[in-house]
Amino acid sequence: MSEKNKSSAARPAPASNFIRNIIDADLAAGKYAARGWGGKPGPAKVHAQAPQDAARIRTRFPPEPNGYLHIGHAKSICLNFGLAQSYGGACHMRFDDTNPEKEEQEYVDSIIHAVQWLGFDWRENIFFASDYFDFMYEAAVHLIHTGHAYVDEQTPEQMRANRGTLTEPGVASPWRERPAAESLARFGEMREGKHADGSMVLRAKIDMASPNINLRDPAIYRIRKARHHRTGDKWCVYPMYAYAHPIEDALERITHSICTLEFEDQRPFYDWLLGKLAEGGLLAQPLPQQVEFARLNLTFVVLSKRRLIQLVNEKHVAGWDDPRMPTLAGARRRGYTPQGFRLFAERIGVSKADSWIDYSVLEDCMREHLNESAERRIAVLDPVKLIIDNYPADQQEDCFAPNHPQKPDLGKRVVPLTRELWIEREDFAETPPKGFFRLFPGNSVRLRYGYVVKCTGCEKDSAGRVTAVHCEYIAGTKSGTAGADSVKVKGNIHWVSARHAHAAPVRLYDRLFKTAHPGAGGQDYLLDLNPDSAKTITAQLEAALKEAKPEERFQFERHGYFVADLRDSAPGAPVFNRAVTLRDSWKA
Ligand code: ATP
Ligand code: MG
Repeated sequence: MSEKNKSSAARPAPASNFIRNIIDADLAAGKYAARGWGGKPGPAKVHAQAPQDAARIRTRFPPEPNGYLHIGHAKSICLNFGLAQSYGGACHMRFDDTNPEKEEQEYVDSIIHAVQWLGFDWRENIFFASDYFDFMYEAAVHLIHTGHAYVDEQTPEQMRANRGTLTEPGVASPWRERPAAESLARFGEMREGKHADGSMVLRAKIDMASPNINLRDPAIYRIRKARHHRTGDKWCVYPMYAYAHPIEDALERITHSICTLEFEDQRPFYDWLLGKLAEGGLLAQPLPQQVEFARLNLTFVVLSKRRLIQLVNEKHVAGWDDPRMPTLAGARRRGYTPQGFRLFAERIGVSKADSWIDYSVLEDCMREHLNESAERRIAVLDPVKLIIDNYPADQQEDCFAPNHPQKPDLGKRVVPLTRELWIEREDFAETPPKGFFRLFPGNSVRLRYGYVVKCTGCEKDSAGRVTAVHCEYIAGTKSGTAGADSVKVKGNIHWVSARHAHAAPVRLYDRLFKTAHPGAGGQDYLLDLNPDSAKTITAQLEAALKEAKPEERFQFERHGYFVADLRDSAPGAPVFNRAVTLRDSWKA
């Protein structure tokens, strides 16, 4: 990295993209300098909650509280909050809770935690779509009054059949031309609970012949006799998403309503609806504009709430925050970091073109941040004894291990060296394969931060399995002393003193799915679950790790990045999760 890049790394200038270009043009045109903006009150009918601060632009993150947030949402969060931050604007946290059946407080809470964990702050701007139900109802009444909506009493099957196809226009409902007064009466009855679910809907009256099916009189209100997590039993009619969302944006005076590409065909309705309500004086100019970007598609995971719910409900994972889950709650337990996610969002950028991002890109971002931020520790994951036969049994001496090789200010810690150590089983070979530079009889290696030792042999059990390795140390070769380089060796291995080591469970997590595109080709995506995605071992850790606090992250030298589990660690008894290995082991 050049010096120049280094100095700008703390606050990189945001890369330009098509959304920033739109915002730049809008600001240059003075679009939001209009009346009602920046502290001046808007028209009387505008919802009382309309924010009145001086934000230059306003974005929002509008999850439906029907599941936990996942890595795809992180892209949207970083984008919306990031834009607001860089333009001196505001980003609203809005719960799009218009669907009473699937929504729960548990999800609201988890979403709040996840966005805060990513490091974003909505300040006072937290909203619930359900707070606008009164306004939405009034707006619907207004549309009926002005001839732009009607109550349709066709059955759902008839409605579907009459909608037409991509090549054929729709057929008008027999109720389409009914007088406004009649629709008003029916709509009132719908609200009062006089009609059954599905027996009638309120539809916008636009164009049954439109080539855009979303404009063929879309349903805007439906009957659902269901209890809502916030409004309780107050309503038995609920607005459809396509109707509610633009209104939420307009009432909150959002400037740029950023959503994923599948909503592109909804944009004409978005504009139609807000235009009609603004004409009637119910909403103020300037109206929000919808801007679509390509959603994140990530290999080796599933990012659909329906599938994530299935993984949880059918117990393929231990819960929403299972460290293998692509949820933000899972990623957090896994040891991923908010900074890693922000780096990822920046690196993948935003575009209009759908594409796949390889999971390794996310892992690289996590490695990059963890490499910089995590202190080093020593852990032996697959321990076998190493006995230094010429080292006195009662002797002990201090070796000094740097806490971070690039950050000398973080200091060093003492690791005691004794006669019996734990080393990795794979660091010894009785008959070494070609190019093996670690322990084998006759060969010398450096015990990292300690002495050079020469391997003399091993002990085996009746099954031929190595139970201990023997060696002798070479006096005067200790790291950091004048004689350290007197003996040249090619191998350098880590170790912990057996007497001082702390045995602890370590979970070696791997990717949840074994294929890049789970469920590709129409097969059941569950068949692609990786059977080896969670393995728990008992590792021998250096003593300092015994006091690791929940969520403290470390690099275990030569292994990867690990975190003390948020839930399962107890004081003095941490449980570690592997976040990511040092190198990509999935590369073809
Ligand atoms: P569903 O609507 O099926 O319940 P969803 O994933 O769209 O699921 P929402 O709660 O509606 O969930 O999403 C909130 C916001 O996150 C939306 O603005 C949506 O566009 C965005 N979002 C969801 N998934 C992704 C993704 N994979 N990449 C980028 N943004 C996403
Ligand atoms: Mg959605």
